[in-house]
Amino acid sequence: MQELVYFVFPALTLAVAASLYRRARKAREASSVAIWSETQTTGLTEPASLHPVLDPSVCVGAGSCVIDCPEQAMGIIDGKGILINPSVCIGHGACAAACPVGAIRLVFGTARRGMEIPAVDPHFETNVRGIFIAGELGGMGLIRKAVDQGKQAMQTIAKRRDARADFDVIIVGAGPAGIAATLAAKQAGLRYMTIEQETTLGGTALHYPRRKIVMTAPMDLPLVGKVAMREISKESLIELWHDVMAKTGIEISFATRLEKLESASGLIRVHTDKGIFATANVLLAIGRRGTPRRLGAAGEELAKVLYRLIEPEQFRGANALVVGGGDSALEAALALADEPGTQVTLVYRGETFGRVKPPNRERMEAACSAGRIDVRMKTEVLHIAADHVTLMREGQQTDIPNEVLIVCAGGILPMSLLKDAGIRVETRHGED
Ligand SMILES: Cc1cc2nc3c(=O)[nH]c(=O)nc-3n(C[C@H](O)[C@H](O)[C@H](O)COP(=O)(O)OP(=O)(O)OC[C@H]3O[C@@H](n4cnc5c(N)ncnc54)[C@H](O)[C@@H]3O)c2cc1C
Repeated sequence: MQELVYFVFPALTLAVAASLYRRARKAREASSVAIWSETQTTGLTEPASLHPVLDPSVCVGAGSCVIDCPEQAMGIIDGKGILINPSVCIGHGACAAACPVGAIRLVFGTARRGMEIPAVDPHFETNVRGIFIAGELGGMGLIRKAVDQGKQAMQTIAKRRDARADFDVIIVGAGPAGIAATLAAKQAGLRYMTIEQETTLGGTALHYPRRKIVMTAPMDLPLVGKVAMREISKESLIELWHDVMAKTGIEISFATRLEKLESASGLIRVHTDKGIFATANVLLAIGRRGTPRRLGAAGEELAKVLYRLIEPEQFRGANALVVGGGDSALEAALALADEPGTQVTLVYRGETFGRVKPPNRERMEAACSAGRIDVRMKTEVLHIAADHVTLMREGQQTDIPNEVLIVCAGGILPMSLLKDAGIRVETRHGED
């Protein structure tokens, strides 16, 4: 009996634990292989920004990277860690921090697709004196980092005032970096202007999927103090930025787009769609999403034309048209179709939805077969009027009733704006 207690039971327990562990590992590998092959099929193999590269000769397949990645971008195949879903990786670096053997390093770009990063000095100033860059535009894609960089850049800017200029600093962008910089500018008593192309603040977070859980870290905001948060919903994060704006009285000129920067006589001339301003410094906190591409159709200036969908419920019961063939177009059309009474048409000039995520394609096919979305391929928008839109397909014009038009035609990336301003931009290919 004693033998049973001392030897057989522990041995059995160990054997059961080992078998359970092997089964869990096998299941995890199988799921990793499935996601990896889907990634290959869809061609979504290139990460957008900072991402992990694993050294298989060091990796011991512990799986900590898989467990700690909040975006579920990591997997294990053949006993080694691998970035199985590069398109959802946002460069948290949680995988690298979790790896017990230091097998993961974080890099920009890949051998196949280079990533352009503007060169900045330790104070976030570019090679053009007076032009600073903070946040994701500089390559570091995390909210907390963007906030820190916005504040830090402002410390140098605060020492560079020039009475000749209209402003000490013009901050471009009202995402986390731009909001933090604006708070710091107000705290330092600078003559500042913050411009934002959208009609509201929050930056890229506005484009997160609904109710996405945002992983971040506590931050210290000028004029506000410590904000303790680690996991917060997208909606609460946006609400937080609105509260910050209301409580601190920071001012932001919304619906104002930066178009060009020019250096002249020690000042920077900031060209916007609302006028040209002279400033001693500019902080570019414009992220990497760029400026929404316009259709170039007559009537596009009408207020019913939007370049992103935030609250589909406000278009309940309306005739809605979505233009585009990427994930954001499909997601916008599907979200609108979920609203009772909304008539949704999706038009795309291509013949197929080439590079969209499989779940979006499947949901779109189902919505189309159920008659919930009217999909028109090889079709373009010719003319936009207050109550209808004229579409063109292979030379044939058709009018459809319309109350809202969402254009999801991608963005014009900010790098050409930087290069035109003389800012040095480096292309990185995954090297350290
Ligand atoms: C799907 C997704 C999920 C993510 N999840 C997380 C997460 O959980 N945790 C985390 O830390 N990070 C996350 N990130 C990354 C995070 O959103 C970014 O790192 C962060 O928003 C960068 O802040 P930013 O201020 O640099 O730029 P942005 O937030 O991109 O803000 C830039 C602002 O500049 C404006 N702008 C751009 N061009 C112009 C112009 N020409 N004129 C005027 N205004 C202009 C834009 O409209 C925008 O409001 C995620 C990103 C994505 C895409």
